[in-house]
Amino acid sequence: MARYGLMGGTFDPIHLGHLVTAEEARFQLRLDLVIFIPNRCPPHKDPSEVTDPEHRYLMTVLATATHPYFRVSREEIDRPGPSYTVDTIRAFRHRYPQDDLYYITGADAIGQILRGEWHRTEELLRMCEFIGASRPGYSIDRDLWQSSDIAREYRHRIHLLEIPALAISSTEIRRRVQEGRTIRYLVPEGVEQYILKHGLYNRTGRRG
Ligand code: ATP
Ligand code: MG
Repeated sequence: MARYGLMGGTFDPIHLGHLVTAEEARFQLRLDLVIFIPNRCPPHKDPSEVTDPEHRYLMTVLATATHPYFRVSREEIDRPGPSYTVDTIRAFRHRYPQDDLYYITGADAIGQILRGEWHRTEELLRMCEFIGASRPGYSIDRDLWQSSDIAREYRHRIHLLEIPALAISSTEIRRRVQEGRTIRYLVPEGVEQYILKHGLYNRTGRRG
C-alpha cells in the first residue's frame, strides 16, 4: 500500500512556496510520491487572468523534474470544464483504490474548505485526507476549527503542518515580472528562464 500526496493548484507560476510545502509534507507524512496537479479552469479565478494551461503545466514539470519522488499529472489539464478537486480525487481514488491519498494545501485553502466553499466539500473530505500547511499571511480561524460543522465532522482527517515560512505567492511573482523586478531564488531557475523566454506576465517589458 502506497501513500500519495496530491498537490493541486494553478501554479501560475509554480514557486518555492509550493515546492517547500510539497517536500515538507512528503517528509513529515512519509509519502512515497507527491503528484502535482495543475488545473485547467480554476473555479475561483477569472479565466481571462489565468495563463495558458500548457505553459503552467510545463513550468510545473520543469520545477519538479530533478526530484526523484515528484510527479506531474495531466488529470485536470486534459479535463474540460471547471477543474473541481472532487472530480480529480474521485479519478485518483479509482486508479489507486487501496492506497492512502493526502491532498496537500496551504492554510488559505483549508479556510475555504472549512467554510464549505469548495464544490461538494464533504464528499471531498470523505474521499481523502488533507494536509494543511502553514502559510505566512493566513491562519486557520480558531472558531472555525473548533466549532464549524465541517471541522467537527472531518478535522481528524486534516493534518496541520508547520513548514518553513515562505511569504511567496504566484500573484507576487507575476507582479514582480510586470514591474521588471527580479524573481531569482523565488522560483526555480528553469522556471525563471521559461518565463523570460516566453515573455509571460510581461506587458510592459522587463528590465535587468
Ligand atoms: P495565486 O497568488 O495566483 O493564488 P498561489 O501562490 O496562492 O497563487 P496557488 O496555485 O493558488 O498558488 O496555490 C496552490 C496551493 O499551494 C494552495 O493550496 C496554496 O494554499 C498553496 N500555497 C501557495 N503558496 C504557498 C506558500 N508560500 N506556502 C504554503 N502554501 C502555499
Ligand atoms: Mg492561491
